[in-house]
Amino acid sequence: MSILVTGGAGYIGSHTVIELLNKGEEVVIIDNFSNSKKEVLNLIKKITSKDFKFYEMDYSNREKLEKVFEENPNIDSVINFAGFKSVGESVKKPIEYYMNNISGTLILLEIMKKYNVKKFVFSSSATVYGEPERIPLTEDCKIGGTTNPYGTTKLFIEQILQDLYKSDNEWSIVILRYFNPVGAHESGLIGEEPQGIPNNLMPYVVRVASGELEQLSIFGNDYNTHDGTGVRDYIHVVDLAKGHIKAIEKINKEKHGLFIYNLGTGVGYSVLDMVKAFEKSTGKKVSYKITERRPGDIAECYSNPKKAEEELGWKAEKTLEDMCKDSWNFINNKA
Ligand code: NAD
Ligand code: UDP
Repeated sequence: MSILVTGGAGYIGSHTVIELLNKGEEVVIIDNFSNSKKEVLNLIKKITSKDFKFYEMDYSNREKLEKVFEENPNIDSVINFAGFKSVGESVKKPIEYYMNNISGTLILLEIMKKYNVKKFVFSSSATVYGEPERIPLTEDCKIGGTTNPYGTTKLFIEQILQDLYKSDNEWSIVILRYFNPVGAHESGLIGEEPQGIPNNLMPYVVRVASGELEQLSIFGNDYNTHDGTGVRDYIHVVDLAKGHIKAIEKINKEKHGLFIYNLGTGVGYSVLDMVKAFEKSTGKKVSYKITERRPGDIAECYSNPKKAEEELGWKAEKTLEDMCKDSWNFINNKA
């Protein structure tokens, strides 16, 4: 049997494909390289010494998607990473975000249904919790109140998947709510490569450390947190990737159902904690200044990851030091 991975050349997708191949799974990747580079595919082969099928295409192209299912009748599950992911850009380009993320997923689900492939793993986000009802967040916390179109695409797709499962309980669906993925593969060959100036904390920190950017702006130090800066649940991308292996095992075992899991470490670190940990693990200085709060940011957001541990047998294992070292190693390797 083989697993179709949309967006498999991207940051989380590529790390997941490595874990799947290492486990001996057959993989078919779709990507249009709208936010990734072709060379990633060769790097995956180099790291794993394994091969896979690849289609350069838009995942929402019905005709081409049908061809993928026709040519690979052994596809029996899909992991859907494809989509746009920049919060700020989504505010400026809502149509593009709703189109690519929601319409794309709908078309994918429609074609899956046509080919009777009903096992689906979806990349959701902690952003669906909006302003957290309580901390740490459990999967039954209220969702909604997203503050940008990107977050709303995740919320709507979760609702679509709920409705789909209600209409036909032959589907087996796992919704994974990621917290803050950071880090890179230990080989230093693949990692996160945001285009232009990064929005997220860790990619910004590594670029300040490398001298590519001058100074980190810390968005506010007057939050109600232990040092006043924002607290998040940072998770190593390889731990996150391994969560997808467990999700695939779950849908293969259970056959039917809709399951939702937080993928986080359960530990919250502040922006200042991250800067200090990065400096300690890498020996590099990160110059920073405190600036205004970033609109839409919340004070703290971290998970209770117990459900994934109990039901999937998954637990994040990598340390904050691994996250910092591997992020740095990747950037350093490229320089
Ligand atoms: P990414 O941008 O690195 O990867 C997405 C991949 O999908 C890219 O390779 C891109 O080229 C491809 N893609 C986009 N639109 C496509 C289309 N129409 N057809 C084919 N390929 C397309 O992002 P990522 O960080 O790896 O995130 C993967 C998924 O996880 C996304 O759905 C994202 O929203 C979600 N997610 C990411 C984070 C995060 O912080 N990185 C957090 C929560 C959820
Ligand atoms: N942050 C910051 N400076 C930056 C980028 C982020 O101070 O240049 C802070 C941000 O305010 C938040 C945390 O770092 O408290 C994580 O932000 P990120 O954008 O990485 O993730 P998200 O806000 O989506 O959880």
